[in-house]
Amino acid sequence: MTLIKSINPYTGELLAEFHPLSEKEIEEKLSAGSVAFSTWKETGFLRRAELMNNAAKVLKDRREKYAKIISLEMGKVIKESLAEVDKCALVCEYYGEKSAEFLQAEDINLPEGKKAKVIHQPLGAILAVMPWNFPFWQVFRFAAPTLMAGNVGVLKHASNVPQCSLAIQEVFTEAGFPAGVFQSLLIDSEATTKLIEDDRIKAVTLTGSEKAGASVASAAGKQIKKSLLELGGSDPFIVLKDSDLKKAAETAVKARMINFGQSCIAAKRFIIEEDIYDDFLTIFVDQLSKLKEGDPMDESSDFACMARPDLAEELYSQVDKSVKAGATLLFGGEKPEKDSARFQPTILTDIPTAAPAYSEELFGPVATIFKVKNEADAIAMANDSEFGLGASIWSEDKEKAEQLASKIESGAVFINSMVASNPHLPFGGVKKSGYGRELSRYGILEFVNSKTVYLG
Ligand code: NDP
Repeated sequence: MTLIKSINPYTGELLAEFHPLSEKEIEEKLSAGSVAFSTWKETGFLRRAELMNNAAKVLKDRREKYAKIISLEMGKVIKESLAEVDKCALVCEYYGEKSAEFLQAEDINLPEGKKAKVIHQPLGAILAVMPWNFPFWQVFRFAAPTLMAGNVGVLKHASNVPQCSLAIQEVFTEAGFPAGVFQSLLIDSEATTKLIEDDRIKAVTLTGSEKAGASVASAAGKQIKKSLLELGGSDPFIVLKDSDLKKAAETAVKARMINFGQSCIAAKRFIIEEDIYDDFLTIFVDQLSKLKEGDPMDESSDFACMARPDLAEELYSQVDKSVKAGATLLFGGEKPEKDSARFQPTILTDIPTAAPAYSEELFGPVATIFKVKNEADAIAMANDSEFGLGASIWSEDKEKAEQLASKIESGAVFINSMVASNPHLPFGGVKKSGYGRELSRYGILEFVNSKTVYLG
C-alpha cells in the first residue's frame, strides 16, 4: 500500500506519512455521512449559520497554525498562506449570512391563475476532489455553500497535502458540526472512483487538471450523477494602448506571480497592443526583477518554490520545447536542479503557434508576452485557446472595454483589474476550463434539487 507523504517542497524534507484509509474505514465514513445527512438536512439555517460562523472563528483563531501547514506542505509563501486562511473565514461568514436568502422558496404565478413554488433541497453526500494549489481555499469554497444547503461533504484532497486535509477536518469538528457532516478521506484516485460509484455519493465536484476532470466526470456520468469541473485556464491579460500602462504592467506581474504562478486564474498570456509593447515589457521586467526569492516561512519572501519537483520539471520542459520551437527567452529559463521544486521566474516572447507555450497552460511562473496590431487581433488571440476561465482587459475607455469583454470566451472578464475569486461573484469556466459555477448564489444552487411544487 502506497503511503501518502507530506513533503516540504522547499527543503525536500519528509514531514509526515499517512496510511490511506482501508475499505472498511471508507465504508464507516460513508455510513457516518448518511446518518449525519438524515438530521443535517432538517437542521434550520440559523443553526447551520451558527456553526459556519464558528468555523470562521476557528480559522481566525488558528490562522498562523493553518498558514504554516499550507506553506510547509506546498511551498506557498507565508503571507499568501495567511491571506488564504483569512479568505476561507470570509467565505464561511458569507454563506452563513446569505444561504437562507439564496435558497428561499420562489413563488411562480401561472397564466391560468394557478400558483407553483420552487423549493431548493439538499441532495446528500457531495464528493469534492480538490487540488494542492490553494489547499484550504478550494475546499472552503466548496464546503461553505454545500453544507449550508444541507448536504454533507466528503473530501478527497490532493495526495501532497494530507496535513491540510486533516487540518480542514479539524476546523469543522472544532466548530461543532455534527460528526459525519464534513469528512476528510485520505485516499488515492482508485478509491475515489469507487466512491463515485457508491449510491451514497450523490454528486462530485473537482478542481484540478483536465485529465483528472475527464476521469472523474466520466465515472460520475456512468452513474448519472452530476459533476462540476473547475479545470485549468490560460487567461489572457489584454493591455490596450489607451490604458493606464504603469498600473496595468505592475498588476500584470502580480497576476502572473500569485501563488508562484500555480493558479488557474493567474494571467498567463499577456496580449499587448504594439504601440505600447516595448514600454510594457520594460515595466514588467523591472517589476519581476524586484521580487524576492526566499524561504516560504520568511515574511519578506515574494516567492519560494513550486509545490512539487515534478511540476517544476514539467514546466521547464514546456519552456524548453517552446524555445526550441522558436520562442525568445527574455528572462530566466534556467533548468531546475534535479528533484528540486525551485524555479526561476521566466518570460517568453515571439512565441510561434506551434510552441507548447502558445497553446498549453503554463502552471507556474512563466509569462508569455504577445504583440498585436489592434483590438480585434487582441480579442482573436485571447480566444485562440482551448481554455476559457478568466480574462483581464485594460483600457481607460470603459465603455469600449465592456463591449470587448462580451466578445471574450471566458467565465469572467475583469476590466482594469486582475482576475480574482470573490464570494459575491460566480466563478467557473467555459471550453476546457470546465463547467458549473462556484461561489455567489449560483454556487449554492449547483448541489440542490430545485423542486417544482405545483399548487393545484
Ligand atoms: P491533478 O488534477 O492530478 O490533481 C487534482 C486532484 O485530482 C487531486 O486530488 C488528485 O488526487 C485528483 N485526481 C487526479 N486524477 C484523478 C483520478 N483519475 N480520479 C480521481 N481523482 C483524481 O493535478 P496535479 O497535481 O497532477 O497537477 C497537474 C496539473 O493540473 C497542473 O499543472 C495544472 O495544470 C492542473 N491543476 C489545476 C488546478 C486548478 O486550480 N484548476 C489545481 C491543480 C492542478 P492525487 O493527488 O491523489 O492524484
